[in-house]
Amino acid sequence: MGEDLEKLKQRLPLLDYLRQQSWSARPVGQGTEFVGLCPLHAETRPSFYVNARKNLFYCHGCGQGGDLIRFVELSQHLSFRQSLAYLEQQNAADPGAVLEETAAFYQRQWPHYPEALRYLQQRGVHDAALLQELHMGYAPGGSLRRHLTARGYSLDLLRRTGLVNPQGHDVFYRRVVFPCYQNGRLVNLYGRSIVASAPPHRFLPGAKGGLYAWEQVRQSPEVILVEGLFDYAVLWQAGFRQATCSLGTHLTPGQFRQLCDHPRTVYLTFDVDANGSGQQAAQALAHRLRAQGISTRRVLLPSGHDPNSFFVQGGDARQFHSLLEEALS
Ligand SMILES: [Zn+2]
Repeated sequence: MGEDLEKLKQRLPLLDYLRQQSWSARPVGQGTEFVGLCPLHAETRPSFYVNARKNLFYCHGCGQGGDLIRFVELSQHLSFRQSLAYLEQQNAADPGAVLEETAAFYQRQWPHYPEALRYLQQRGVHDAALLQELHMGYAPGGSLRRHLTARGYSLDLLRRTGLVNPQGHDVFYRRVVFPCYQNGRLVNLYGRSIVASAPPHRFLPGAKGGLYAWEQVRQSPEVILVEGLFDYAVLWQAGFRQATCSLGTHLTPGQFRQLCDHPRTVYLTFDVDANGSGQQAAQALAHRLRAQGISTRRVLLPSGHDPNSFFVQGGDARQFHSLLEEALS
């Protein structure tokens, strides 16, 4: 029992738990101690201290203090035993807070990395509003771990979310990063390498989420479905706001259900690559969607193109609009 308790507290450090509960704090002194407003009593001046190394809290306002279990007992009004059960459940821990912090950190990196901005230009992205809208960021590699641990996140949590590898290095290295949201919650990060020698696509472990930006388009009677986020990005820039992205040609069951949740027309705009795999995938998907009563149109880009390269090589909104009109039903 005692040993399990220690393990539980190690797996879920008090500070990580508090941050998951949206407790905001600032470091004091050497950075092992943090102070913020007390979650246990009403106050306007921060008097709730957490020592991240000792894994303990103390509030100078209400005089309460102790470890994680004690905090749960007090904040959730549970017995010791109930608190343990509650924490075991919580420990399928919600990585939301640390992902949000990571995405915000990456968004601030653009000005320091001209090579990343050059890459955006090559991919036809030139609208600053787009970076804002999609919360796009840049992961230089080698600085995220330091930033997050300085903010009080444990190395163990960073490893569990997959942001840091077992050797302790940042996993996203020289990648353009798109946060993936589902129902307003950040559930994953997609990183596109800007160097040719690395695998181009990378996600964190776990679900990639539903269709990209689905909340914005789900009411639309016509939806453009693309494979990649840079396809999505250039369409957004060209004014096509009824687009969504499946992050690959293979839809998850959840993504498929989303497309079928309402009568609509789906414009399948997959790559027209030499080996025909994009178009084969589009045809197979069209077949499955029609079986669910969804209208489909297959958009035929010029040979060798995806929506991104189409716009990069001079295609414009008017031309893309004609492609939509000519799409095969
Ligand atoms: Zn207090």
